[in-house]
Amino acid sequence: MVDLKAWLNEQREKGRLRSLRPVIAREKGRLILAEDDNRTLLDFSSNDYLALAEHPALIAAAQEALSRFGAGSGASRLMSGDLAVHHDLEQAVAQLKGQEGALTFGSGYMANTGIIPALMGRHDLIFSDRLNHASIHDGCRLSGARVIRFRHNDLNHLEELLTKKRGTTTPLIVVESIYSMDGDRCPLRELAALKERFGCLLMVDEAHATGVFGPTGGGIIEEDGMSGAVDLAVGTFGKGLGSYGAFVAGNREMIEYLVNRARSFIFSTALPPAVAAASLAAVRLIRHEPGLRRELQEKIGYFKGVLRKGGYEADLGPSQIIPIVVGESEAALHIAELLQKKGIFATAVRPPTVPQGTARLRFSITRHHSTTDLSRAAETLLEIMEDSR
Ligand SMILES: *Cc1c(COP(=O)(O)O)cnc(C)c1O
Repeated sequence: MVDLKAWLNEQREKGRLRSLRPVIAREKGRLILAEDDNRTLLDFSSNDYLALAEHPALIAAAQEALSRFGAGSGASRLMSGDLAVHHDLEQAVAQLKGQEGALTFGSGYMANTGIIPALMGRHDLIFSDRLNHASIHDGCRLSGARVIRFRHNDLNHLEELLTKKRGTTTPLIVVESIYSMDGDRCPLRELAALKERFGCLLMVDEAHATGVFGPTGGGIIEEDGMSGAVDLAVGTFGKGLGSYGAFVAGNREMIEYLVNRARSFIFSTALPPAVAAASLAAVRLIRHEPGLRRELQEKIGYFKGVLRKGGYEADLGPSQIIPIVVGESEAALHIAELLQKKGIFATAVRPPTVPQGTARLRFSITRHHSTTDLSRAAETLLEIMEDSR
């Protein structure tokens, strides 16, 4: 057992201790923190990219399900918690992802820690991008398989490792499509070619891409036309879809297998009906309203444009997640504090979450942000960086 007091003190001294910061009010991309006595902050740290959490269609669907089916689902899916709305949702997700079937999970964390160990065991190999989300790493570890991490988005490195270590069992290649800390995108077509050549399974986590990319919001898989090459398309309802819970889409056999083997699915209560109904409303919205994505893309372009015009030259990435790399942890924290004083809430991301020397501010753009908000945030950021040079 760790010495709690000593651990907490050590982290505190290093400036690494994290703490919760309650939000007491939130609306339209603005929030008020309890610590900040009633000052309204512009929120640049939300993953609710399409502003669906407050969308009337999600709220109405949740309210309707709540009054018809109650607050909780009452049991796991394999017991009596298996409601029609879960199946409607899974059918909609399968269609969105161009797959035969889909299965919902309590969260993205539960999806990844359930799916990977269901498929892979101690005689198997997993090739995992080094910047994959913690839930993917944890799923890999839990599986007992040998995990080989390849350099982020580095196809040559992956090919080299596959050539050297492929083995006799079918390995898993696991990646994200839009990475949460750099906002960059995986080379999906090339990954699919390697998967084919080396006879692997390919799992793609679209947590930050679902809803945001693809003609109907099906993510990078849809945008690149690669649904046929992806064996497991994972995503969350908690980010661009504005709700909660997660899913995997795949072929019929895969889904039937996971129903029987994914422990985080089997041994956990089914999603509450209101949550599933809100997620279903969100999937329908993103499919039928491409204007939501267009609006978001315009805002992303606008924000990047203001930074460029102000002389910011480093890479801003291809997505709604915009990393402003400043280097040292202290510098990132300091800038985040100054931004907050000026009414802008953006998170400082530090090692060990990102590599040493690449501490950053992470701006995520949502459909809530007006052009006025975006110019104010970009200009304030530029001023602060100028002053702290
Ligand atoms: C956020 C995230 C998850 C976790 O999803 P939750 O539904 O929030 O648990 C999983 N994978 C990736 C890549 C993520 O960014």
